Amino acid sequence: MITAPKGTHDILPGDAERWQRLEEAARAVLGRYGYGEIRTPMFESTELFAKGVGQATDIVGKEMYTFADKKDRSLSLRPEGTAAVVRAVLEGRLYDGQGTLRLYYLGPMFRYERMQKGRQRQFHQLGVEVFGPASPELDAEVIDALMAFLGALGIEGSQLLVNSIGDGACRPVYRERLTAFIDSIADRLCEECLRRKETNPLRVLDCKNPACIAATAAAPSILDALCEPCARHFAAVCRALEVYGLAYRVEPRLVRGLDYYMRTTFEVVHGNLGAQNALGGGGRYDGLSELLGGPHLPGVGWAAGIERLLLTVPPPAAAAGVDTAVVAVGEAPMLKALALAQKLRQRGESVVMDFKGTSFKAQMKAANKCRARRALILGEDELQGGVVTVKDLASGEQRTIKEDEL
Ligand code: AMP
Repeated sequence: MITAPKGTHDILPGDAERWQRLEEAARAVLGRYGYGEIRTPMFESTELFAKGVGQATDIVGKEMYTFADKKDRSLSLRPEGTAAVVRAVLEGRLYDGQGTLRLYYLGPMFRYERMQKGRQRQFHQLGVEVFGPASPELDAEVIDALMAFLGALGIEGSQLLVNSIGDGACRPVYRERLTAFIDSIADRLCEECLRRKETNPLRVLDCKNPACIAATAAAPSILDALCEPCARHFAAVCRALEVYGLAYRVEPRLVRGLDYYMRTTFEVVHGNLGAQNALGGGGRYDGLSELLGGPHLPGVGWAAGIERLLLTVPPPAAAAGVDTAVVAVGEAPMLKALALAQKLRQRGESVVMDFKGTSFKAQMKAANKCRARRALILGEDELQGGVVTVKDLASGEQRTIKEDEL
C-alpha cells in the first residue's frame, strides 16, 4: 500500500463541501472590499524566497522543499504567498503607481515542519496583499476584512493581537537594546533562541518554549522604542480599529517570524487550537518590493490557514443529498431510467442511479444512504403503463404519475 506523504492529507467528499463553503465565504467577503484574485505558481526560483522571506527565517532556512530541475535551476515549492504575489505584481506591472491594488490568493503552501495538530507539510492559505497607500487606516481595513471573514465563517471567540515593530529608523535601536537584554539572560534560553539572537533577535520573543517566555518576560518593549512616525502610525491603526468596532489587544511581543514586516503586525489566535493557536496573521511590508528589485511600493497583507479555520468553524448541518435516486428493476426499465435521469439532469436536478443491478429493496436502501429527497421508481409495471412512481423519502408519501408529467 502506498500512503500519502507525511504531513499531507486528502480532502474527501463531505469535507470538500466545507472547503467549498469556506472558499465561497472568502470570495463573498473579500469581494465587498474590492479584492481581485491572483493565482501564482506552486513553485518559484529559490532565490525569490531567500531574498523575499529571508534566509535567516525558519521557513527558508529549514523548511523549504527545494530541488534542482533538469537544467539545474534551484526551485522551491512556495512556503508562503507574499513574496510570489509581490514578484507577480512587479513582473506583470500590475500596479500603475496610483490608487490601491487589492489582491487575494487561496491555495496550498509547503513547509517541511514537525507535524502537530493544525500543522501540516502541505497546508492551505487564504491571503490578501494590498499595494499602494502606506496609510494606517488601510492596515485597519485589511484587518477588518480578516475579522469579517472569520465572522462570516461563524468563528467566535478569536482574539486579535496587534503590535508595531517599527521601521528602519527605530528598529535597529530597539534591536540593540533587546540584544543587550538577551545577553543578560542568555543562560536561561534554548539553543534555538541563542541562534536567533545572532540572526534576528526579535524572534527570541516569538519562541514558544515556556522557559524562554518566562526568561524574556521583562524584555524591553518595542512600543517604547518606536520613532515618532511609527508611533503615530500605530496610534492611527488602533484608532481606526476602534472605528471598525474591533476588539484588540496590544501585544508588544508579537514580532512574527518573517523578516520583511515593518510597523504594523497582527495575529488572530483562538483558544481551541492548542499549541498552534494562530488562525492567521500579517502585517505591513513597505520594503519588500525594493528588496526584490522593484520600485518603492508599500504593501500590507495577511494569511490565514484554512485547515486551522476548519478546525475552528462550528460543525456544519448535515450536508444535503441529491434530489432524486432512480430505482429501476429489470433491464428494460433500467434503460428507460437512463433517459429519464438524463432529462432530469438537463433540467438542473441532481440524479443518481445504482448500477449494481440489485433488487428493489437494495436500491431503496442505496437511495436512503445517499440522502436522496425522493426515489423515482420504475419497474416492468410502470414501463407498461407509461408511468413512474415517485416516493418522497422523508414523508414516505408515494404517488404514480404519467411519465410525461415528470
Ligand atoms: P505564516 O505564513 O507563518 O504567517 O502563517 C499564516 C497562517 O498560516 C498561520 O496563522 C496558520 O493558520 C497557517 N499555517 C502556517 N503554517 C502552517 C502549517 N505548517 N500547517 C497548517 N497551517 C499553517
